[in-house]
Amino acid sequence: MPTVYLNGQFLPLEEARVPVLDRGFIFGDGVYEVIPVYSRRPFRLHEHLARLQHSLDAVRLANPHGEAEWTALIERIVAAAEWPDQGVYLQVTRGPAPRDHAFPKVAQATVFVMPMELTAPPEAAVDEGVAAITAADNRWLRCDIKAVSLLANVLLRQLSVDAGCAETLLLRDGFLTEGSASNVFIVRAGTLLAPPKSHLMLPGITYDVVLELAARLGLPCQVRPVTEAELRAADEVWLTSSTKEVLAVTRLDDRPVGDGRPGPRFRRMHAAYQEYKRTVMRGG
Ligand code: PMP
Repeated sequence: MPTVYLNGQFLPLEEARVPVLDRGFIFGDGVYEVIPVYSRRPFRLHEHLARLQHSLDAVRLANPHGEAEWTALIERIVAAAEWPDQGVYLQVTRGPAPRDHAFPKVAQATVFVMPMELTAPPEAAVDEGVAAITAADNRWLRCDIKAVSLLANVLLRQLSVDAGCAETLLLRDGFLTEGSASNVFIVRAGTLLAPPKSHLMLPGITYDVVLELAARLGLPCQVRPVTEAELRAADEVWLTSSTKEVLAVTRLDDRPVGDGRPGPRFRRMHAAYQEYKRTVMRGG
């Protein structure tokens, strides 16, 4: 059983308890992060902590820790866990208070950090690609906040599980936003297209890495709105997230994407991403 951190204490996961009146439980009133760790080295920690700050500011919660404190805490959790590769989950909620929608006058935030085993996507998913479906993006208009209230994402993700697919790609007003738990890129006529960051999508850390690697690879790239028609006519469709890394979508709504195989740009990007991870593991 892994060691977790809860409100100042390090303890076994099965001993960690929060009061039922915690606003995270009652209202989903809290924010979170998942930080990938390779060979016990956190990947883009500063960027994840900056996104945490953005989420906390957006929901008007004070950050309970400075960056040095978070770093020390996460390092301790990572060191105690049995796996070299981990996804460190951290959550901050507005804490326990009598049930009332309005913020409590006095509240003590609940801080929880937990390690999870991180396994790279299976080789078959990388080599063959994965299937996805589309659905209307019926989430709220603050998808840039990494909020624990994930009910819409949960329901949208389950649609793809029910269809035997890996992800649900979301369309809002005729434009691609992202996936239920990932960002989405397409390739058309040799150019990588990425929906721009806005209140309609989570600013993915992997999304940024992929854009940086595209520039390094000399892959033409445009960050601009992507229409549903462009998605459906794409030569390649990619998913990115900290746990999926980069995956090719080779079937969309039961039709092949391009020739139905992961495309040449995907292969280059996947190789570049693996190489980049190796430099991180070496401490570069
Ligand atoms: N969008 C959503 C809705 C997500 O849940 C995630 C993964 N947490 C992402 C995008 C990808 O973000 P990241 O690359 O930081 O994992």
